Amino acid sequence: MKHGRGSSNTAQSESREIAELARETIWERPSFLRNLFLGKFSLNLIHPYPEPEGGEEARAREFLDQLEEFLSTQVDSEAIDQNGKIPEETVEELRRMGVFGIKIPLEYGGLGFSQLTYNRANQLISSKDANIAALISAHQSIGVPQPLKLFGTPEQKRKYFPRLAKGAISAFALTEFHVGSDPANLRTTAIPTEDGTAFILSGEKLWCTNGTRAELLVVMARTPSKIVNGKEKKQITAFIVEANWPGVEVVRRCRFMGLKALENGIIRFHNVRVPRENILWKEGAGLKLALITLNTGRLTLPASCAGIAKSALQICRRWANERVQWGAPIGKHEAVAEKIGRMASSTFAMESIAELCAAMSEKGGYDIRMEAALAKLFNTEAGWRIVDDTMQIRGGRGYETASSLAARGDDPIPVERMMRDYRVNLIFEGSSEIMRLFLAREGVDFHMQLAGDLVNPKASIGSKIKAALRAGSFYAGWYPRLWFGKGYLPSYREFGDLAVHMRSVERSCRKLARMSLYAILRYGPSLEHRQMILFRIVDIGAELFAMAASCVRANMLACKGGDGSHAVRLADHFCRLSRRRVEGLFKTIFHNSDSNTYELAREVLEGKHAWLESGIIDQPGKNSKAPAVVPEPVRLSR
Ligand SMILES: Cc1cc2nc3c(=O)[nH]c(=O)nc-3n(C[C@H](O)[C@H](O)[C@H](O)COP(=O)(O)OP(=O)(O)OC[C@H]3O[C@@H](n4cnc5c(N)ncnc54)[C@H](O)[C@@H]3O)c2cc1C
Repeated sequence: MKHGRGSSNTAQSESREIAELARETIWERPSFLRNLFLGKFSLNLIHPYPEPEGGEEARAREFLDQLEEFLSTQVDSEAIDQNGKIPEETVEELRRMGVFGIKIPLEYGGLGFSQLTYNRANQLISSKDANIAALISAHQSIGVPQPLKLFGTPEQKRKYFPRLAKGAISAFALTEFHVGSDPANLRTTAIPTEDGTAFILSGEKLWCTNGTRAELLVVMARTPSKIVNGKEKKQITAFIVEANWPGVEVVRRCRFMGLKALENGIIRFHNVRVPRENILWKEGAGLKLALITLNTGRLTLPASCAGIAKSALQICRRWANERVQWGAPIGKHEAVAEKIGRMASSTFAMESIAELCAAMSEKGGYDIRMEAALAKLFNTEAGWRIVDDTMQIRGGRGYETASSLAARGDDPIPVERMMRDYRVNLIFEGSSEIMRLFLAREGVDFHMQLAGDLVNPKASIGSKIKAALRAGSFYAGWYPRLWFGKGYLPSYREFGDLAVHMRSVERSCRKLARMSLYAILRYGPSLEHRQMILFRIVDIGAELFAMAASCVRANMLACKGGDGSHAVRLADHFCRLSRRRVEGLFKTIFHNSDSNTYELAREVLEGKHAWLESGIIDQPGKNSKAPAVVPEPVRLSR
């Protein structure tokens, strides 16, 4: 049977419905990115640079210096990687320094620092040890402290914050065997007790980071459905669960390509009694809570990725000067120089994005749900390219483990470990594809609301007329404005050498809005399934945001003096390359081989090209001919 692209079935529409219900639909505060996708370059929202209120610099500097000293002198990342364990003394020292409570308010025993300081701490940690970064981030960016800060009752805060600040490790448990990117199939249930004072939690969670050593968990579970207008509405609720409660079992620790010391496991809940007062926010709001938590939680990974990019740059700068091949340091050969130039300016852009988003989050008054998703998407992917280039520049030494390098007297530079540890960043906390879908949804939603029915073949005549009137009056004013703007004038002069790029961003964002509208008119509601087109639209938006963030930060640094002029140089280079990528993406929005590619993929999935897989040993899996190797189940007890 032939199916159309992403053809609909009941399970798909149910997933979409649940995701839509959890989605925040109201935009109460201004969003730079939403405006950008609508063709409005709202520079005033990010320039002058939104520097958060001062006041913590001296205290933050002292804390960060102490952390830096500890990481550089006391942490043996090679041993952590090889032993698959962060030593208890290291965790204890992190506790002593307050690292588990960086963002927890002072009144509850935390350090009470801003998102910016938290990001800087994560950047430091990530540049040294990805396992410690994951421990701290899973605890504080998505674990109990973050949703507790946003949605906890005063009683919950009084009860849990002091414990968390002292270092009670926490975790976030959403994923299950059948539930990855799509939470609709959640099977963990929480059934209210007869007297209604508690819920009985049952189910199993997969890949819960920190799960094997956490004291406290945020658990997402299905609570009884509600009937709304005669239709069943699935409810997902978030609970704080204590790991030592009867019925909570760590079934197994999972092992990965990298992050060898990640305390990640399968957690089983067998009739666990959870008091009603441990609901976070309210019944049925669990998925929304998870999404809102991630809006801020997602700001950490971009900072971590920037930290890793900086380390990679340092490794490459030193090695490309030192290593001589074919009569010259390898950095002087153009192919290597090209990578180093790109690496430096991308690192600057990544840090600019991470810092700008953290500053906006801290200053408040912005809606940063799109910025956080974009920062996660852009920085994880840009960082991966940098790590890959670093491996190439280090050559064979990049591929060799640090301990093997050390054993034969070479510098133990851990690029091999960096690559293993890094890759998962593009998968967890929302995969790159899911981030692009989220951004596409929010970026084109306005037009779909306004004109969707006009191009929807299933819409009634009445709906079409209403949509035509609505769209007609809006687009009559909006569309002509997309053809002319400041980008054609000698504007943005305060940006000096960068003004030319700011003008390009202004012009491109209007063009992006025009292209988005054409895509809706051309494909109607089925645009939702044209992911290759939507993803190009998102990628253009991402480049424009990266350019704007780099220019405003470089401008701010230049005004402060010091290294500012170097920052302008880096921003200028980033924008030159970014503008070329934008040009390429615009060209392929409508002129591409998408349909051909999609058809080929369908043929592959139908097995038409299975002949290509001959001459190899059969790979394991459900349809494999190879005998299954079943590992002995290992049970963990606390
Ligand atoms: C090391 C590690 C740590 C983790 N820590 C935690 C944790 O602490 N807590 C927790 O709850 N979870 C955790 N996870 C789970 C993680 O968040 C999921 O792996 C992630 O959500 C993706 O789900 P999945 O792996 O099942 O992929 P799937 O959802 O099965 O997706 C597989 C692929 O298909 C793509 N895809 C899926 N749907 C679409 C679509 N509609 N359109 C286009 N592409 C699509 C995905 O992007 C991906 O590339 C962790 C995972 C790992 C590996």
